[in-house]
Amino acid sequence: MVGGRCGTAAVKRKARSQGTRQHAKCGPRQRRYNKKIRVHTLHTSRNMSSQAASAISDTSLAPLAPLVSRLPRVGTTIFTVMSALAAEKGAVNLGQGFPDFDCDPLLLDAVNDAMRAGHNQYPPMAGILPLRQAVSDKVASLYGRRYDPLTEITITAGATQAILTVVLCCVHPGDEVIVIEPVYDSYVPAIELAGGKPVFVQMEVGSDGYSVPWDKVAAAVTPKTRLIMVNSPHNPTGSIFDADDIAQLTAIVRGTQILVMSDEVYEHMVYDEHRHESACRHPELAERAFVVSSFGKTYHVTGWKIGYVAAPAMLSAEFRRVHQFNVFTVNTPMQYGLATYMEDPAPYLDLAPFYAHKRDLFREGLSGTRFKLLPSRGTYFQCVDYSAISDMPEAEFCRWLTTEIGVAAIPISAFYDQPRESGIVRFCFAKKDQTLRTALERLSRL
Ligand code: PMP
Ligand code: GLN
Repeated sequence: MVGGRCGTAAVKRKARSQGTRQHAKCGPRQRRYNKKIRVHTLHTSRNMSSQAASAISDTSLAPLAPLVSRLPRVGTTIFTVMSALAAEKGAVNLGQGFPDFDCDPLLLDAVNDAMRAGHNQYPPMAGILPLRQAVSDKVASLYGRRYDPLTEITITAGATQAILTVVLCCVHPGDEVIVIEPVYDSYVPAIELAGGKPVFVQMEVGSDGYSVPWDKVAAAVTPKTRLIMVNSPHNPTGSIFDADDIAQLTAIVRGTQILVMSDEVYEHMVYDEHRHESACRHPELAERAFVVSSFGKTYHVTGWKIGYVAAPAMLSAEFRRVHQFNVFTVNTPMQYGLATYMEDPAPYLDLAPFYAHKRDLFREGLSGTRFKLLPSRGTYFQCVDYSAISDMPEAEFCRWLTTEIGVAAIPISAFYDQPRESGIVRFCFAKKDQTLRTALERLSRL
């Protein structure tokens, strides 16, 4: 109790380092408090063995040992770093993936109405039934599989929590989990928190963009493989699965105990003649898949952090066991608001043309530069090869682009476990047309 409540941590550290029991300057009230505490400690110590008493006083003197990190390799995410640099330099932020425009006012009204109607207490653990029903109806109408809203759909605090919960509920220490690089930044920490071992397979990049080498995924499977984590439409590459990708993934897991986490947060952003190959469309795959999506992407509300998981009842039951102790429930008025708003399918059906326009505007503007454009078949990301402009490593190029040209981007190298340079960076085109034009004006110098 040396020093009591008076004095800052720095003062206490100084006192400790001098080996003294000095008090920092404190007033009479503080001194009375400290005296009370000392007397209390004395009485307590007298009733204990001298060993126990000295252990207490030693503990009170010892500085807290640094925590042994469960994620020792993790720093601040690249998205946060680049957004901060963009803000500091006044750059156009095409780095972190979020819209710079607001959502539909009707959605705000729906949430506001829900709050005013008194939907402000805990909802059911798995989410309010009208929202689970709306998700079930949407999935059935788009992909042809009917998930039971009572037992097979769970509302989550965004896709990030959904993904962590999927991993925690099915990966045990020592299990292997196959991830495909470039990989979204939350997957590997989730595996590590569960005590699992990530096994990396790299996408290949050619003139037609990125693709998954399924033969390498098959070769990475061992008796310890528990889960394969896939993502289509894919962040950061903008590539999408076609029917052949799904067929190959299905063949790999057939007859095994391997589960699949299918991250489909960009499900409504698939362009041109393509369609979204949701795992829900493919019965054999859907039987072992946790399908994850996010309202944040679909409705331009990334800050609301609300999403869902659709999975067969047996998988959903285990998911909910973990879910109820890591968030328990997700905020109520947003759920009611979204349930009402989802009655109209137009906002998600119109999302692809809405973003295709932005993608085309952005690609058109870049076509006069020395950036080489990779295909963007889905998501709101556009990858470019900048090797004709610079031989800087990707992270350095992004810093330079932000600082000197005034446009922020994300290095693809940030999505790999081991350092890997491909001379490719990612731009986000979920921005007002005017924002994209300002960025293009700056990039046109390159
Ligand atoms: N998966 C992917 C591929 C993402 O890009 C993101 C966010 N951008 C997430 C998951 C997380 O989504 P949420 O914000 O709903 O947690
Ligand atoms: N998913 C977003 C992106 O890829 C960022 C989300 C985050 O900052 N964690 O840019």
